[in-house]
Amino acid sequence: MRRLDQLLANLGYCSRREARAWIDAGRVTIAGKIATDSSQKAPAAHVRVDGLPLDHSDGLLLLLHKPLGLVCSHEEREGPSIYSLFPPRWRARNPVLTSVGRLDKDTSGLLVVTDQSPLVHRLTSPRHKVPKVYRATVDRDLSPDLIPLFAAGTLQLEGEKQPCAPAQLTLLSPRAAELTLTEGKYHQVRRMFAAAGATVLTLHRTRFGALDLAGLAPGAWRELPLDAL
Ligand code: URA
Repeated sequence: MRRLDQLLANLGYCSRREARAWIDAGRVTIAGKIATDSSQKAPAAHVRVDGLPLDHSDGLLLLLHKPLGLVCSHEEREGPSIYSLFPPRWRARNPVLTSVGRLDKDTSGLLVVTDQSPLVHRLTSPRHKVPKVYRATVDRDLSPDLIPLFAAGTLQLEGEKQPCAPAQLTLLSPRAAELTLTEGKYHQVRRMFAAAGATVLTLHRTRFGALDLAGLAPGAWRELPLDAL
């Protein structure tokens, strides 16, 4: 259990100093009784602010359809961010919302976002091998020879210690393909096609493990149960 002022600050409501003022003003209750001491510890489920239960005090797990043009970063200097799509209170939480892996600014598609850091570590660990499915269009006709090349698990990208793990390539048309990866090296899809002489023109992630984007427009997100992954 956390102190009341810490609890409200960590859930993005206000600063700890403001929390103390809110408590002095009688805006915070514990199990129906007005709280008087900001250092008091209480189960989050018993706390209300202005009569309302706390916002997702157990944590957040979100499925986002990342649109093109946004970066997966909290750094303002890196440009417009996916985090601007979420309520401001969620962006002020501690632990912060983090994406499970990143998609480039010029990549759209499925992104899992959470404040559960053990989950981020588990799902991004190469040991876990979560399959991620991408659709790419490229600037030249793709040879079927790429299928065994990508499947072999021997493709070495410049600057990487390990070759790419076996990846499944399906040709959808001469210049469009679906690629399933179980790891997430930097710019991996673009670099794999570049190693095969093709430039990726568009890139979209359609699946992450069992999750897909059904019913979600670009920029939209939905909540997942905390134990969904
Ligand atoms: N591979 C890339 O090249 N870019 C992404 O955004 C994801 C995978």
